[in-house]
Amino acid sequence: DGRPGGRARGRYAERFGGRLVLVTGAGSGIGRATALAFAEAGARVVVVDRDTRAALRTAGEARARGAADAWAETADVSDEQAVEKLAERVTAAHGVVDVLVNNAGVGLGGAFLDTTTEEWKRVLDVNLWGVIHGCLHFGRRMAERGQGGHIVNVASAAAFQPSRALPAYGASKAAVLMLSESLRAELAERGVGVTAVCPGFVNTGITSTARFAGTDAAEERRRRRKAARLYGMRNYPPEKVAAAVLRAVVRDEAVVPVTPEARAAYALARWLPGAARM
Ligand code: ADP
Repeated sequence: DGRPGGRARGRYAERFGGRLVLVTGAGSGIGRATALAFAEAGARVVVVDRDTRAALRTAGEARARGAADAWAETADVSDEQAVEKLAERVTAAHGVVDVLVNNAGVGLGGAFLDTTTEEWKRVLDVNLWGVIHGCLHFGRRMAERGQGGHIVNVASAAAFQPSRALPAYGASKAAVLMLSESLRAELAERGVGVTAVCPGFVNTGITSTARFAGTDAAEERRRRRKAARLYGMRNYPPEKVAAAVLRAVVRDEAVVPVTPEARAAYALARWLPGAARM
């Protein structure tokens, strides 16, 4: 297969040059930054988003940044049929994916008692089922090919940091974290690595568009600020999360808390479960 093109200058060009990388939710935020980081390493990048225009824009940027090639695909990851068809299409056209990044996600803030079952379903459909669909339809092909590969699931510090502000979002990400760690154990013997990357509060669309269940606009702004404080909001750039994704694949890391707050919360949750719940 293709080796790094002349334009690929990224520090991981040796590792990812010519590799087939698929990133979901790559139209914006962390997904976009991740797709572009792989592009800079000379990978062939499949940009998936439910927003077609956003996917096309990122694919164009990926080509400009040195991707060996880049394609935009429209799919809603919560729709299993759509993901299954996507996997068939991508495999037929380009081969088995070497790196899968399950990143597409939606935010939802608000107290448990203010959250409707419809809102629960939506956040679990995208954040958890979206990852399950990706692991099933792309991961199975990677395992069967038997030539390695890596799955990165983008979870969140909310997966191990209990919060009154994010019960539904946190539950969806905790499930993703446990799925990742369990799948890692299962796929190790097939040569496929699995990593959960857990960003803290990253300033992207998800944090500005996350709805706070059952609240008016002013209350919503107040709660978003509070959630931001809780999670150590700073202008943490999505590019740094993307760098952590590439590094995690190279090092085959199991769980990667990104941002200083996430690292601290993870250490606390692992060693002092009581303290993290205060
Ligand atoms: P973040 O990067 O912090 O996760 P963003 O909101 O900036 O937050 O990016 C999320 C991306 O995921 C958006 O481009 C959005 O269109 C995409 N996305 C959200 N839900 C789905 C879905 N069900 N299927 C595919 N893409 C999705």
